[in-house]
Amino acid sequence: LLSVSGLRKSYGDRLVLDDVSLTVEPHDVICLIGSSGSGKSTLLRCLNLLEDIDDGVITFEGREISDPRVDPREVRSRMGMVFQAYNLFPHLSVLENCTLAPRRVHGVPRAEAEARALLLLERFGLSEHAAKHPDRLSGGQQQRVALVRAMCTSPTLLLLDEITAALDPELVGEVLEIVRAEAEAGMTMVLATHEMAFARDVATSVCFLDRGRILEQGPPAEIFSAPREERTRQFLRRVL
Ligand code: ATP
Ligand code: MG
Repeated sequence: LLSVSGLRKSYGDRLVLDDVSLTVEPHDVICLIGSSGSGKSTLLRCLNLLEDIDDGVITFEGREISDPRVDPREVRSRMGMVFQAYNLFPHLSVLENCTLAPRRVHGVPRAEAEARALLLLERFGLSEHAAKHPDRLSGGQQQRVALVRAMCTSPTLLLLDEITAALDPELVGEVLEIVRAEAEAGMTMVLATHEMAFARDVATSVCFLDRGRILEQGPPAEIFSAPREERTRQFLRRVL
């Protein structure tokens, strides 16, 4: 579904991603773990064409999207992304937030876009909030709406960047439950997370990033129980 090879990205003279290669197959749930500053967010942003890359090739659904002629908006509509701080549009209702991209980017008629959004809102227990503005909702509810909004364009891949990191601890569970349900329903995802228990439970594969490199990748049982690299062991000792 997605492949990255030899990806390099610098900010000024600081190399932030160094020769990153990664393959994502349908139904994979790939968790990116690693210290703050190791490059997790930058990698996700590069996949979604939010950052220019210095070197490397990114292929998505059989097409080289790192080609500068590719329209990033079109790629993003099939690769949903949710960030740490809920980035809902404050002046739009929940329903309008969810139907904006399908209508504007895909030209889906309003009634159809609303029907799909309402179905998803219902599935995640958010129907009663459809007409509200985001500032009427709790952080957990807003982040669940952000997930629904990302799914309203029927993306084939979801990119999630520490979507629970800004939440009160008691709200983390309800958001992770949606991610887990989507994973179990077969959604393909790449997510950066500091929730190690969640990664251990839900990931099909865990990537440990260290100073811009994927130092180690494997099934969660392997990475968490028997990491090969000393730096992975040090990291896990600190966070587990
Ligand atoms: P965290 O766990 O804290 O979210 P991360 O693994 O997501 O960290 P990144 O945000 O990808 O790390 O940052 C990787 C490096 O790139 C860091 O050293 C950071 O300071 C640097 N960086 C990120 N964004 C920019 C930017 N816009 N301009 C300059 N440097 C940046
Ligand atoms: Mg980050």
